[in-house]
Amino acid sequence: MKDYINVIGAGLAGSEAAYQIAKRGIKVKLYEMKPVKFSPAHSNSNFAEIVCSNSFKSNLLTNACGLLKEELRRLDSLLIKIADETAVPAGQALAVDREEFAKKVTENLKNNLNIEIINKEVVSKYDETIANKNQKANLAQGENKKLNNTIAQDQSSKMEKNSAQRNENIEETEPIFFEDLINEDAITIIATGPLTSDSLSIGIKKLTGENDLHFYDAAAPIIEKDSIDFNIAFYGDRYEQEKKKDETLEEWHNRISEYNKTNVASGSNINMKSNGIDKLISGSAEKKDTNSYINLPMNKEEYENFVQELINAEVVTLHDFEKGEIFEGCMPVEVMAKRGIDTLRFGPLKPVGFDDPRTGKRPYAVVQLRQDNLRGILYNMVGFQTNLKYGEQKRVFSMIPGLNNAEFVKYGVMHRNTFINSPELLDNTYNLKKKTNIYFAGQITGVEGYVESISSGMVASLNAIKQFNDANKKLLKSATLSKLENKENVNNKIKEYKFTKSDRETIEEITFSKETMIGALADYISTPKENFQPMNANFGILPPLEGEKIKDKKKRYESLSNRALEKLEQLDENVNI
Ligand SMILES: Cc1cc2nc3c(=O)[nH]c(=O)nc-3n(C[C@H](O)[C@H](O)[C@H](O)COP(=O)(O)OP(=O)(O)OC[C@H]3O[C@@H](n4cnc5c(N)ncnc54)[C@H](O)[C@@H]3O)c2cc1C
Repeated sequence: MKDYINVIGAGLAGSEAAYQIAKRGIKVKLYEMKPVKFSPAHSNSNFAEIVCSNSFKSNLLTNACGLLKEELRRLDSLLIKIADETAVPAGQALAVDREEFAKKVTENLKNNLNIEIINKEVVSKYDETIANKNQKANLAQGENKKLNNTIAQDQSSKMEKNSAQRNENIEETEPIFFEDLINEDAITIIATGPLTSDSLSIGIKKLTGENDLHFYDAAAPIIEKDSIDFNIAFYGDRYEQEKKKDETLEEWHNRISEYNKTNVASGSNINMKSNGIDKLISGSAEKKDTNSYINLPMNKEEYENFVQELINAEVVTLHDFEKGEIFEGCMPVEVMAKRGIDTLRFGPLKPVGFDDPRTGKRPYAVVQLRQDNLRGILYNMVGFQTNLKYGEQKRVFSMIPGLNNAEFVKYGVMHRNTFINSPELLDNTYNLKKKTNIYFAGQITGVEGYVESISSGMVASLNAIKQFNDANKKLLKSATLSKLENKENVNNKIKEYKFTKSDRETIEEITFSKETMIGALADYISTPKENFQPMNANFGILPPLEGEKIKDKKKRYESLSNRALEKLEQLDENVNI
């Protein structure tokens, strides 16, 4: 087992992780490809580069990101501390002087004797371009050895110097392979961000599986269920309720009755009238248990007004490296709308399968919302991936009947973003389930945002430290090692030891309560869900407060924050590692 922890990527997550590990006296090898190579969005040689806005969002505890920062402050986050130190005036928000921020983080890590910095791109052995380059370098090294022999023979000091120079060059081109770093005997944190280099992405894909690494966000807005107007909205799954091609009318009729019996609670009535069947089904808009879809019916006028506003709304400017490819798999809703007034009605807003409970008639269009978290308090807008500016999303999407007072916990985005399918791959400590010496941290795990990335760096590193320390303790206690008296021999034995999966299974993890924002994010990215998309800090991912619902939003958020900070206080003593 190696006597250090690898951290790949010195961005926001990797820098925080490296600091937390080094602070606890453990050596870190920190790999950062800058300034040798820059991603399309990075340009500064320093670590923890802020690539876009200089804001870390609100500092208020009535704001989800404000709470997240406060939790991180209490856990001695280096990056939040430096953000506070380099803050520029921005009202209630924490905005930083980005140059000063990155410079201070870099200085801090460079001056830390436990951190060895390696400015090289970590590449994959499965990347053919690297394999070819490496082959050439090996050939050159062979040539060089021959040359060295000649030098030894004629003792020419001048040639010796040239050779040394050449050796240096060859060493410089020698790649650092990802596959070597993640060998079972080294704990490694992968924090290479949303713009992970292509070669490393090949290695990560090999590790996670072909379908578990994504390169683009195509996230639709997410809405708090409690803010939806259920006088208009109703539950129901279009594909469940639609008549199947091979079904007789009677079979269809019976199936829908069954479906609604199990999915619709008693209360008001929904009129199911389709394909000639006119049947009144007892039930309310609220489904009993599997509330997978919420439907928002529109009449012709509502639909046309909505499309008109949608096609004229302001969109964000994409970076050059994001243009083109992004539209291949998933079209933004506003682009689809521009193709013709009926395009959305024949696409994601098709009204097939439902009648509008207000009129008993087939609506002109239906917007569907799909359940987004297990607790069923968040819903995403099906087919609404978008590049509209956030303010425009609020304005235009609130025109949809039932969404007039909607709370958007997350707006839609579409941008270049490398992220893994964390719900399948990671547990809530950001540990890779199938290879437990590996952790992921930062945006690559599907947390979204600067502070969220720092938060995942904190959790992953605390758990990497715990694993490292527990493994060492376990080895020291082992029969063979306890007999050795010489410290050097003990250390060598530890280094030689190949830690097994069953060794690791006995190690306790440090998990954060789901009631803290740090824990809720870790829980979100590690809980199974269909069509996983990145998530930022928001109060919708916290479990609701017990007792009666506090109607005043500010007071509710304040109570959620107080509860979170209390939970953080109670955290297992293990965090004080
Ligand atoms: C264009 C863009 C704009 C964004 N704007 C915002 C915003 O305004 N606000 C916000 O909150 N979030 C924003 N984000 C999202 C996200 O919060 C940031 O990208 C954040 O920096 C992510 O932190 P990270 O540590 O995961 O990755 P990064 O901060 O990107 O760090 C990853 C590091 O890994 C290095 N690296 C990559 N590949 C390798 C390799 N193979 N070997 C060695 N090193 C490697 C990179 O050089 C980089 O330094 C933006 C993202 C992008 C892409």
